[in-house]
Amino acid sequence: ESVVNRIAAGEVIQRPVSAVKELVENSLDARSSSINVVVKDGGLKLIQVSDDGHGIRYEDLPILCERHTTSKLSAFEDLQSIKSMGFRGEALASMTYVAHVTVTTITKGQLHGYRVSYKDGVMEHEPKACAAVKGTQIMIENLFYNMSARRKTLQNSADDYSKIADLLSRFAIHHISVSFSCRKHGAARADVSSVATLSRIDAIRSVYGVSVARSLMKVEALDKDPSSSVFQMDGFISNSDYVAKKITMVLFINDRLVDCTALKRALEIVYAATLPKASKPFIYMSIILPPEHVDVNVHPTKREVSLLNQEVIIEKIQSVVESRLRSSNE
Ligand code: ADP
Ligand code: MG
Repeated sequence: ESVVNRIAAGEVIQRPVSAVKELVENSLDARSSSINVVVKDGGLKLIQVSDDGHGIRYEDLPILCERHTTSKLSAFEDLQSIKSMGFRGEALASMTYVAHVTVTTITKGQLHGYRVSYKDGVMEHEPKACAAVKGTQIMIENLFYNMSARRKTLQNSADDYSKIADLLSRFAIHHISVSFSCRKHGAARADVSSVATLSRIDAIRSVYGVSVARSLMKVEALDKDPSSSVFQMDGFISNSDYVAKKITMVLFINDRLVDCTALKRALEIVYAATLPKASKPFIYMSIILPPEHVDVNVHPTKREVSLLNQEVIIEKIQSVVESRLRSSNE
């Protein structure tokens, strides 16, 4: 049974960056205002995510890492949102089958926190009282220690680290009221660091740099025709001043970080036609749709989504972007 669980877990957590994504999303769900990530060896030796969120109650610790245990499912009607957020209650449990997981947490009003380690879905010992300030710290050590083939395919720690830093950059420019950092273990400087702000452009400047931030133009769309696609989009797109070797597309749908290859391609086409010299743009977009219109692939870690009325939505966004680019060109 444990082999089956390990294989299933290896599907949920495919690389270090998938573990980081799950941990950071948990920290966001816990209403954190500060999330700090430390990584050693591209995440294979250590991934540590510390937050200042609401913490985990003592009585929830024994089942925290059981599969399908979630504190986020209150009623049957939530099934729709389960779908939009991927699998529920799988992430932490999965990590315990393929790594050494230690949780340190304190809830509001408590004098001390608790520390506990998990293995194969269960607590290894009773929670131990310990000093803690606020929130939760989760340490994932020796990821894939029991999957030697997987470890062999993940020998490029620089590549895995840059995927993690890239992920944090994306979170940081969407959740601008949260401060984020990402650093290598032992490094004095963080590679990604953002402070809470009210301005999206400030956040983008601090994470992606001045030249991106300077080139940005706001785009918006609101479509309220109930018979077709009910959606709302807002974002920032680069103008002709920004020249890069490849496109950066940061896309959030219903506040979840996703990829939509069809939309990305469609926007590349618009840029190629309108701003050929700056045809590899920087694009940040946040789209709000009725949850039942978003189909996240059944697979928990796939970021690719498909949308109901996808063509209509893409065409609408294309035309908004195109007219914004044309007006900037005049
Ligand atoms: P899910 O997020 O789908 O509920 P997870 O396996 O990711 O499942 O997490 C299991 C549960 O652990 C969550 O429902 C939540 O109650 C708790 N949890 C995990 N990480 C944190 C955190 N950083 N702060 C507070 N609670 C957390
Ligand atoms: Mg989760």
